[in-house]
Amino acid sequence: MWWSLARGVRENGFGGGFDELSHRFRAAGGIKELRFPLEIFDRLRPTLATSIPPTTNPFPALERGVFTLSLDFELIWGTQDVAGPDEFRQACLFERRRIVDDLLALLHEFEIPATWCIVGHLFLDSCDGKHADLKRPQHHWMQGDWYQHDPGGREDESSVFLGKSLVEKILACPTRQEVGFHSFSHVIWGDPGCSREVAESEIAACVRAAAWTGTKAVSFVFPRNRVGHLDVLAANGLRVFRGPGPRWYERDENPGALGRLAHLAEVALGAPAPTVLPETTAEGLVNLPGSMIYLPAHGVRGLIPVSRRVRRALAGLDDAANRRRVFHMWFHPTNLADRYHPMIGGLREVFARARGLRDAGRLGLRPRAAFAPAA
Ligand SMILES: [Zn+2]
Repeated sequence: MWWSLARGVRENGFGGGFDELSHRFRAAGGIKELRFPLEIFDRLRPTLATSIPPTTNPFPALERGVFTLSLDFELIWGTQDVAGPDEFRQACLFERRRIVDDLLALLHEFEIPATWCIVGHLFLDSCDGKHADLKRPQHHWMQGDWYQHDPGGREDESSVFLGKSLVEKILACPTRQEVGFHSFSHVIWGDPGCSREVAESEIAACVRAAAWTGTKAVSFVFPRNRVGHLDVLAANGLRVFRGPGPRWYERDENPGALGRLAHLAEVALGAPAPTVLPETTAEGLVNLPGSMIYLPAHGVRGLIPVSRRVRRALAGLDDAANRRRVFHMWFHPTNLADRYHPMIGGLREVFARARGLRDAGRLGLRPRAAFAPAA
């Protein structure tokens, strides 16, 4: 019964309110079946493990532990389909005005070569706002044309859809940063609404838009971490992607309210972040799962002290060094916008520990491309 209730919440959120819950309670057997919700704890139990079990993947053993940092760089593209172009506009403008510069300075100070997976449209400094040549996804949650919010025009200080000048800053960082792709327009590759033709159209558009950089992208992040069309990646020279982390709520495509709660609880407890190992897929790609998102501090998340996030990350770094595994942290630069100073201060602590372990010869600081199989 508890599981039925939980599943209802997972699938529908709390949108049905108390009436819906009460109905489900009665339909599921009511008070007669009131018992300890073992099933729920069964689902939560994996979140208490500190790492995934050893795998039998053929990837060579690591000589030493590795810290890899993935940044999903998307400005407004990450949310425009679900929240429109305005809800996160201010955060994106702050990202443009301040966060990218500060983050690059911090990465250089600690000599960390991060992997920036960039939405392809941000390689542009102008567009027509229509993109008539690109295939459209059929995501059920999006009404109207996929590019309906794209204003077109030229990049300026108020642009949240265009970002060439920001990509130039990333490329100019004295500590070399890796540039990869995060699709062209944040189409959800793992959703049935993204056909193979759409995925091919997206990746071809990325390659065209990024041609001016003179670099060849090998790393990819799936929008909303939903994996799909691995063969399209492989056919276009991409080599390494970030799969979902080891926690059940990261592997479940629809973890719902229960999943969000489990994640929040884990961060609030400051539980050690898991470390991971690269895995090779049937397509010949390397999957480097994420260990932990550096959780943003907007809304209820802001109630969790930044120190809990830092504690988790430091434990992940130590575990990577001690057991020759990978601590693969990730976030969106936009995620720093709320509680900015504590959040960037927390990153400084994480980076300082990473560099300290590197200086002791116990940890490598590597971009994701370092895991690419030989072409
Ligand atoms: Zn455009």
